[in-house]
Amino acid sequence: MSSVIRSASCSDTVPESSMLTVAQARQRIIDDFSIISASEKLNLRNALARVLAEDIVSPVSVPGHTNSAMDGYALAGSGLPRSGDKTFHVAGKSYAGAPYRGQCRTGECIRIMTGAVMPEGTDTVVIQEHIQRVGDDHIRIDGGHSAGQNVRQAGEDIAAGGTVLHTPHTLTPADLGILASLGIGEVRVRRRPRVAFFSTGDELRSIGEPLAEGEVYDSNRYSLYGMLKRLDVDLLDMGVVRDDAGAVRTALTEAADMADVVITSGGVSVGEADYIKPVLEETGAIDFWKIAMKPGRPLTYGRIGNSRFFGLPGNPVAVMVTFYQFVQPALKYLVSGHVSEPLLLTATSESGIRKRPGRYEFQRGIYRQDEAGTFSVGKTGKQGSGVLMSMSRANCFILLPEDCDGIAAGESVTIQPFDTFV
Ligand code: AMP
Ligand code: MG
Repeated sequence: MSSVIRSASCSDTVPESSMLTVAQARQRIIDDFSIISASEKLNLRNALARVLAEDIVSPVSVPGHTNSAMDGYALAGSGLPRSGDKTFHVAGKSYAGAPYRGQCRTGECIRIMTGAVMPEGTDTVVIQEHIQRVGDDHIRIDGGHSAGQNVRQAGEDIAAGGTVLHTPHTLTPADLGILASLGIGEVRVRRRPRVAFFSTGDELRSIGEPLAEGEVYDSNRYSLYGMLKRLDVDLLDMGVVRDDAGAVRTALTEAADMADVVITSGGVSVGEADYIKPVLEETGAIDFWKIAMKPGRPLTYGRIGNSRFFGLPGNPVAVMVTFYQFVQPALKYLVSGHVSEPLLLTATSESGIRKRPGRYEFQRGIYRQDEAGTFSVGKTGKQGSGVLMSMSRANCFILLPEDCDGIAAGESVTIQPFDTFV
């Protein structure tokens, strides 16, 4: 992806050189993050979606015994007919959980069910659909079967002593099944990141309070809650903080004492009521960035104590875009130590999209897939950074990198589906 800014848009008031590209900002954040080392032991069910803090070595082989993959008859492969057919005496039964204890001799076979242990003297299973019954206790088998067929060998899936899962693997439903199959009931996982967040703004009211002229309900804290909740982090919702240096200072210090990451929204511009920057300068280490992107240009990043701090813009769409583009990858990195590249798709633009080169734009789109499997995408209407309905209607971002100078109808465009943000 190009990270060259060819020219800034006319409304940009700062020189280009003071702006970071999206990729540069993302890299600076990752470079500043360190990985959580603390861990906890959890029972298997609670460990879903958590990151392993230790390698898992298998105490047993899976399968533990050589067993039948099908319902049928177990016999020695060396006794199979090469041509014509052959009759065998059914000498016993081996069921899953109730093995045949005896020896299978020449001319004999053992009735066997899927998962049942292969009896002594057998190495092959002929499935029940391929035999002919002869009386009560004999079967006839024709040629065309091969020795060793339909049998699962002991240790075929997992060998005892082998490393099955490596740290920092994130546990999936399949992994829970694997661990259960090894008889492992508890695993050590990295502790969850702790994230504290609050909104800033004198105009913000909480749900249930009446709105005076010029006041709005605090919606950012709810969209932030939703995005964080899906990431499996420990949340600390600190409410709304007034536009007041003292109040912002107290809230930031408290948040940093409790959390690995502190997130705020609003107050990061350089207006008279924007206190995030001056307070952070005095209580922590600050990087105040302008990022060549739209929406979301002002993003404050820095540290307070041992916490990493994200001062997101106030506009509701900008909050979500900057969260998904910067905060989310950083929070994932914090536990996994791994930067996962987003899954991107190519779609045909249903209409023309106007854009000037200079900033990376994250427009909101709705993508569909036709019967042939081809994706197309259309915009969700008004794209203002305060129009949260544009996010609500959308199922993807339409990615228009810095150097893109617009998209013609029918042209290909890259999209980032929201499903991948879970
Ligand atoms: P600011 O970055 O503080 O100047 O805010 C930019 C715009 O976003 C203003 O119109 C604010 O009213 C609005 N805004 C800021 N915080 C919130 C919030 N928590 N919920 C809804 N709108 C907000
Ligand atoms: Mg404000």
